[in-house]
Amino acid sequence: MVFAWMAMGMTVLIPLLVGMATNAVSESDMGQLWLMVGAILAAAVLRLGLTLIRRIIAGRVSLAVEFDLRQEVYTHLMSLELGFFDRNQTGQLMSRATVDLQAIRFFLGYGLIFFSQSLLTVLLAGAVMFVINPWLAAIALAPAPFMVFTALRFTRQSRPAMQEVQQRVAELTAQAEESVTGIRVVKAFAREDHQFERFQGAVDRLFDQSIRSTRIQAFFTPLIGALPQIGTALVLLVGGHAVLNGTIDLGEFTAFYVYMLMLAGPLRTVGMALGMGQRAIAAGNRLFEVLDREPELTSKPDAKPLPAGGGAVRFEDVSLSYGPEAPAALRGIDLEVAAGSRIALVGPSGSGKTSLAALLARLYDPTTGSVSIDGADLRDVDLTSLRRQIAYVSDDSFLFSDTIANNISYARSDATREEVERAARLAQASEFIEALPDGYETVVGERGLTLSGGQRQRVAISRALLADPRILILDDATSSLDATTEQQIRSGLAEAMADRTTFVIGHRLSTVSLAEEIVLLDDGQIVDRGSLGELTDRSSLFRELIGSGGEDPLFVPEDEEVAV
Ligand code: ADP
Ligand code: MG
Repeated sequence: MVFAWMAMGMTVLIPLLVGMATNAVSESDMGQLWLMVGAILAAAVLRLGLTLIRRIIAGRVSLAVEFDLRQEVYTHLMSLELGFFDRNQTGQLMSRATVDLQAIRFFLGYGLIFFSQSLLTVLLAGAVMFVINPWLAAIALAPAPFMVFTALRFTRQSRPAMQEVQQRVAELTAQAEESVTGIRVVKAFAREDHQFERFQGAVDRLFDQSIRSTRIQAFFTPLIGALPQIGTALVLLVGGHAVLNGTIDLGEFTAFYVYMLMLAGPLRTVGMALGMGQRAIAAGNRLFEVLDREPELTSKPDAKPLPAGGGAVRFEDVSLSYGPEAPAALRGIDLEVAAGSRIALVGPSGSGKTSLAALLARLYDPTTGSVSIDGADLRDVDLTSLRRQIAYVSDDSFLFSDTIANNISYARSDATREEVERAARLAQASEFIEALPDGYETVVGERGLTLSGGQRQRVAISRALLADPRILILDDATSSLDATTEQQIRSGLAEAMADRTTFVIGHRLSTVSLAEEIVLLDDGQIVDRGSLGELTDRSSLFRELIGSGGEDPLFVPEDEEVAV
């Protein structure tokens, strides 16, 4: 800004020199004319240099701010609790991290400097004009209050309009993102036209709002630009008259006239910079909505690591609602699980099995009651140390765009290749991995090879087994596997479950029979608990669930009598 202001000083100086040169001409003083021309050139060269430096510095600063903000937004997003992501569309968040950031950079890199530079020009030129001739200056600057007034009105009308534009850009991004992510469903149901219509809808909405905002700009910007012309006309008339009367000399008049011409530019720029400022403020508001949002689920400042233990779990009168309006997903859960035991969670879909598992990893905090592991309430435990001790395999096994080996060692990047391969063997994944073009180094995920659902699940199970957790949660983790593969995986899983607490969620008899004890959930409540035999005997709900999920009639559990 200092460089910008110094450059502006040169700009303001030049008309003064032009005026003096004009006087030199009218006095036929050639020496003075040379001097003035030289001074004008020097001022121009100096301004060039100053502007160059200003641009380089401003570019650096604005890019650096964008760079820092981008990282801050990303880190902050990662620190927010899962519930935040449940409630916000991915595309919306992406748009904040890209489009909004750019608007801020443009303002910092150009807008702010243009604005202060133009404002300074107006003030400096005004001051010089008053020194030359206060009376003429007053006439020339008469339209200025109207301009300030117009600019303020412009600001007031255009800010909300701009904010809405930004919001609709985000909706458009979200819409596009969803179509691309869901492309398989779109194609499978031949709904490209429908998706396009929805996209078109978002495009139209953005277009309408942009037009609205442009109309405001179209009205105000030329108005702000036109007002100085009135000043110029007044100066020509009154000043010209004064020169003819001999009240002021031609040089003063020329300087004045050049100032008026010169002011038209900066005054227009003020309007433009105001627009940029509007956009940046709107973008900043949206960005800081995310940045100012404190993570709701964090480690306490005095949090201790999870105490040593074998993974004894205790739910005490736990209930969970996902939102203030949402019905309770879990109610009155009292559950005690001894260290090292294997529990199956069974229940109709929507009965709260996944919610129960999520509480254990403290992905959410219970609405009432408490969850503890090895005697420590999870809210008092350091989150990282807790999650290092828990491996959760969900039914949608997400893999990163990376090699299979790196996907498996995701939770423990220090694992050796032997450990990775052992985990893969336990999860029955080694055979298909070795048959891949680059084996463990094959890149999978979005930008790599696409694995089948069952293959992905086995990689995800390998990842969990390698993590060597105190508590292992398999949430429908074998749902995409065929009965034969699941059978094969059983011995590996049994080995992996050996000395840790395990929760298996699923309806297959083969899955359920991995557990020593079964907890039956219905509508967010525990309705029964017992061994496979006991539940089969006394619970019709259990028989129904297992009957409908028992896709593997070939399988008969070793030592249980089952009446299906
Ligand atoms: P299950 O795993 O047994 O099928 P869930 O635990 O996934 O059941 O869901 C229990 C209830 O909580 C359901 O009514 C579901 O709609 C709701 N629910 C689950 N996850 C969320 C979430 N992230 N946000 C809001 N509601 C949820
Ligand atoms: Mg579930």
